[in-house]
Amino acid sequence: MVITIDGAAGVGKTSTAKELARRLGYQYFDTGAMYRAVTLFFIRENVDLSSRSEVVKSLDSIKLNIDFSSESEMQIFLDEDDISLKIRSQEVTSKVSAVSALKDVREMMVNIQRSFTANGNFVVEGRDIGTVVFPDAKYKFYLQADYDIRAERRLADFEKLNEAKNINEIKEDLEKRDKYDSSRKLSPLKKPDNAIIIDTTLCTFEEQVYKILKHIEK
Ligand code: C5P
Repeated sequence: MVITIDGAAGVGKTSTAKELARRLGYQYFDTGAMYRAVTLFFIRENVDLSSRSEVVKSLDSIKLNIDFSSESEMQIFLDEDDISLKIRSQEVTSKVSAVSALKDVREMMVNIQRSFTANGNFVVEGRDIGTVVFPDAKYKFYLQADYDIRAERRLADFEKLNEAKNINEIKEDLEKRDKYDSSRKLSPLKKPDNAIIIDTTLCTFEEQVYKILKHIEK
């Protein structure tokens, strides 16, 4: 069984999905981390995104591993290298939208996402989970929130990583990424059919988790 949570950056997807997984005894699956991992790999390999053959060749050699064993966390590796924190860097963040817009990248990621979740119960968060990856999921949620609150949440994320950022820079980055992610040709970010919209602007964390749980328990 899969529960899908889609939405833009900073709407509260990650914290909500993790807590939901914990309370339901499901595994937490962050698909954005996969696109970030490919982006980090492409940076390390110096892949020219405009060359399809380079992209395909590089994807053939990527060794992406995911460990779902720890409760409400997901660790991601390139070979043996735990890159769970490295993929949160500004460099990866600024390049991930361009990488995730590539057809070969998306096809590979979607196949992996479907095969990893074939057995077991997962809360899966991303941008195209309810629209493309699991359009028939029974429970689909779409989270949204105002720009200001999203930027504040991202600022807090960067502070945890000890990366100095200012709020205007973050807002610009969010706007750019939203525009890119929702206007791309393949699997753009949008509300999935039949998804329940949860607006988290004025919600406390507990409230947003409760709203989702209430729908599932119905
Ligand atoms: O969720 P997160 O902000 O870590 O995602 C990073 C990027 O990965 C997004 O901006 C988007 O470009 C891409 N992404 C995607 N499809 C997903 C999850 C993430 O295209 N299912």
